Parts: sequence; C-alpha cells; structure tokens
Amino acid sequence: MAQIELSGIQKVYDNGFHAVHDFSMSIEKGEFIVLVGPSGCGKSTTLRMIAGLEAITEGKLSIGGMVSNHRSPRDRGVAMVFQSYALYPHMTVYENMGFGLSLKGLDEDIIEARVKNIARILGLEPYLDRFPRELSGGQRQRVAVGRAIIRKVEVFLMDEPLSNLDAKQRVTMRAEIAQIHNRVGATTIYVTHDQTEAMTLADRIVVMKDGYVQQIGTPKELYFKPANRFVAGFIGEPPMNFIEGGVDLGGKPGVLGFRPENVLVLPPGQSGDERVKQSGGFAFSAEIELTEILGDSVNLYMSFNGNDIIVKLDIIDPPEMGETRGFFVPKEHLYRFDAESGAARYGG
Ligand code: ATP
Repeated sequence: MAQIELSGIQKVYDNGFHAVHDFSMSIEKGEFIVLVGPSGCGKSTTLRMIAGLEAITEGKLSIGGMVSNHRSPRDRGVAMVFQSYALYPHMTVYENMGFGLSLKGLDEDIIEARVKNIARILGLEPYLDRFPRELSGGQRQRVAVGRAIIRKVEVFLMDEPLSNLDAKQRVTMRAEIAQIHNRVGATTIYVTHDQTEAMTLADRIVVMKDGYVQQIGTPKELYFKPANRFVAGFIGEPPMNFIEGGVDLGGKPGVLGFRPENVLVLPPGQSGDERVKQSGGFAFSAEIELTEILGDSVNLYMSFNGNDIIVKLDIIDPPEMGETRGFFVPKEHLYRFDAESGAARYGG
C-alpha cells in the first residue's frame, strides 16, 4: 500500500484561481519525492494541501491508508520544514528541538535523550545552548530539520528549505538532507524550483508548470526521456538546445533538441556534413560569441539560424571567441518535439 495517495487533487483558491489541476500520484513508504517547477506552478500549494494547511477543493488524499482530506494537520503524521525556519528566537537550540515533545507531555529524560540523539545525527551537539541568532544559516536550517525529525513522523514535507542559504551552504545541506533521509528513512516530499536539487535528491521528481503535472519520473527518466519540451528545457544545466523547425515530423516541421554536453566540436576547417551522411545526426557551424570557463568545463555560446545554442565541453583548450567552428551531435543524442504541443516524439 502506498504511503501517500493523491487522486485527482484540484485547488481553486477563493478568488477563483485554479492553482492545481488534477494531481494524481502514489508515493511509496520511504520515497524521496521532489516537486519542481518555476515560480507559481503550484508546488507549494500541493505541499500545503498534503500538510493540511490548505483545503483540498476536489480529489482524494490518503496518508497511511486513511482518507485525510479533512484531518487536522497534527493528526496527519506529517512534519513540515519551511523556507523561513520559523525557530523560536527566545528558545535555545535544545528548547527549539524539544518543545514539541514537551507539549506532548513526554518526560524530561526521554526528551533529553531524543534531543541529544538528533543533535548528534545533525552535528548540532556543540550548539545546544545557543539561541538561533547565534547560529549560521546552515546551522539554523539543521535545527529546523531536527525539530521536524524529532517527532518521529513518517512523512516529512519540506518547502524550499535551502533557499535562505548561500550557494556553498546549499550544496553542503543538500548532501546532509540526503544523508538524513538515508538514516531516518522517512517518506519525504520536497519542494524546490532548483532542478539541481531535484536531480540530486529525488528518487522521483514531479515537474509542474501552470498547475499541471508535466511528468513524474526518476531523475534519469526525466533527463533521458523528457515527456515534452518544457521538461527537456527545465531538467539539465545548461538547458537543452532547441532548433525551431530543425526536424521533419512526417511532413510538418518539428523542433530538434540536443543537450549542450552532447555536442562535439570539430577541428578547425572541418564540417560535420560528412558524418551526418555516414551515420545521421545533426551538424551545424557557428561563430563562438562567448566562452565561459568554469574550471572543469567550458560553455560556448553561439547562435544558429536564430536559435541560441550552448555547447558544453570538458576540454582545457577551447576554441577562441570569434572563431567559427563546425559542431556535430550524434543521432542517439537528438530529441524531437511537436512544434505546437511540445510533446516529445520517440522512435519512428
Ligand atoms: P513559488 O516557487 O513562487 O513559491 P509555487 O509553485 O510554490 O511558487 P504556489 O505558491 O503553489 O506556487 O502558487 C500557485 C499559484 O497560486 C500562484 O499563481 C499563486 O499566485 C496562486 N496563489 C497562491 N496562494 C493563493 C491564494 N491564497 N489566493 C489566490 N491565489 C493564490
């Protein structure tokens, strides 16, 4: 039995705005699910409906086999970690983590054992007597996570928990969240607009746009077999390149797609036309407008037939800016999309 079952969930806000359309999904015990999509796509609304912070307009939500549409947040067996950690400023780290257990009337020695155990898991032992203002952003974030996991609930809901951290802290905390999940094993639903977070954390990703689920799948499925142009362009960094009208879909023009990391740069003076004749694939030549050296790789920016193109190379001596070069994409790395609907076409 799935831990969480959403079927035909809809959200229409009081002002008539339809924020979530027909969201259906079964989430297994222990899964790490990431809801991802651009701002306003409905991911927080979905999470808040699961938490019980927002009413479900239509559809059925069950948690642990119980229909939960109308159960109060505290009876749903879920704990939520918010973007703003919402720590109590006048309480120490110890008190912040133990507060929920005190409210439940647990004995002080049980609370102490639980707090110390969680503090050990999260590396917070040295800070138990500090107040939130005396902690770094990353440490505060860990306290917020600690306060959620101390409740021993079966489901964690996290809404952009890393968004207040700087880039380096985010990478560290991302790894920590993955480790905590491995240790604690609770079902987790995590909201972010950051595709890298989604790719690195998720067992399965749900990509949303304008209130509609675009695709549900493992990071690999989304990367290698995006259902449509939106998912193809959202998952992967730098994003997939698209050539409008670059492919013939049985008589009508379609959109050709290929990832920046799947393009070969050809030696000066060489075009890819010969390779295309031999083995298919796609060749183009373009003037390199900008090179961006990232250390382990280089991004080349150019344009071809009015389409912006990025090529990512892992070589140390990239072509110069202003050079015109031939490029080649092997057949197995090409994607095709319907120009109107954006649906991906595989096979055939
Ligand atoms: P973000 O990443 O910006 O938080 P999101 O994907 O989480 O975006 P939601 O917060 O779920 O998006 O909002 C989805 C849509 O619903 C948005 O267009 C938003 O303006 C709208 N919305 C959110 N709350 C309300 C409300 N109380 N009343 C009316 N519309 C709302």
